[in-house]
Amino acid sequence: MQIIESLRTHAEENIRLRRDIHAHPELGFEEHRTADIVARRLESWGVEVHRGVGGTGVVGVIRKGRSQRGVALRADMDALPVQELNRFAHASQSAGRMHACGHDGHTTTLLSAARVLAEEAQFDGQVVLVFQPAEETSGGARAMIRDGLFERFPVDAIFGFHNMVNLPIGHFAFRFGTGAALTNFKVTVEGRSAHAAMPHLGLDPVPAACQMVQAFQTVITRNMRPVDPGVISVTMIHAGETTNVLPSSCVLQGTVRCVGDDVLDRVKQRMAVIVQNTTAAFELSGSVEWSGYCPSVDNHAEETEFVRRLMTDLAGPENVHLRELSLGGEDFGYYLKLKPGSYFWIGNGAGQGAEDHRLEGHGPGPCTLHSASYDFNDALIPVGATFWVRLVERWLPAGEPIRAD
Ligand SMILES: [Zn+2]
Ligand SMILES: [Zn+2]
Repeated sequence: MQIIESLRTHAEENIRLRRDIHAHPELGFEEHRTADIVARRLESWGVEVHRGVGGTGVVGVIRKGRSQRGVALRADMDALPVQELNRFAHASQSAGRMHACGHDGHTTTLLSAARVLAEEAQFDGQVVLVFQPAEETSGGARAMIRDGLFERFPVDAIFGFHNMVNLPIGHFAFRFGTGAALTNFKVTVEGRSAHAAMPHLGLDPVPAACQMVQAFQTVITRNMRPVDPGVISVTMIHAGETTNVLPSSCVLQGTVRCVGDDVLDRVKQRMAVIVQNTTAAFELSGSVEWSGYCPSVDNHAEETEFVRRLMTDLAGPENVHLRELSLGGEDFGYYLKLKPGSYFWIGNGAGQGAEDHRLEGHGPGPCTLHSASYDFNDALIPVGATFWVRLVERWLPAGEPIRAD
């Protein structure tokens, strides 16, 4: 793939920026430092900047030519509550916070593209650069939309990408159609505490909670159509303080992912019935709360075909892959409910160990998303930024594209 010349010239600077953001991770809606860096850089290239869109979000607008058409490019800025195990120089300086999903790289890649778009690219229309907060908690996209993102900055389509581990640098992946919708749950089972040697004097919530964990799995296997993919994962079980006292309550938390909001609604309804009736059977009371809903990423056909063709033209068909369905969540789905667009993937490096880009001092775990040993591959920055620029040039065509080298 031919990288745009100026991205080569600025490669070192862009890597320094990516590592600086990596060293200073900020959780969802707390991205003040990151947002400030984004805004100041954009301003230094003469880009119109709007701060505080949807909390800590930043929007940059670049207009060229006379066309009323527009396209939005989105990057996410937030980090995760993970204690980084990497020991290299740009490892997180904040205890318990880490850019373990590569949003430091997504932000840097879009910024790198923004400079090229502002300073040298030829296009006819409006480019809206969306630097979004809080992707991991699913609140950021919604917050920006509620803050009038599409009314204030009109576009015809929106695009976004995620780095993809175990896919070599220079490779791309796309997917037509739908992804997973998700919601998190919190089940509270209320009983009555008693001496552990005299359980008949209390109401033990633990056996009921255990039955529920089992019964939830039957929702996937007995209530959903066998051809519909779905997963219910109970990821937290909390009850009790000591060995000789029955706890008074037990809390189960976890996540549900399935394809389609209608399927998700059915799963939620079944889980609620299980909670209600299992607790009743054990003479307990129970409730379930839902949070963190995120709609499925429903890629639009035309825009996905546009992305696929651009990938093929830039990287060659042998480096472009059809992505299989994943039940991973992504709040980009909120944008796609309102605007046509497509969400795609760019390779972050080959091999689960990703030895091709891991620096000395990396942690002992795999270089996979949300792992404490993960790191974004700096070699993706010029690849992704070139792709962003070419996407704009093709979506908003005007004259000759800028030189590649
Ligand atoms: Zn993530
Ligand atoms: Zn991510």
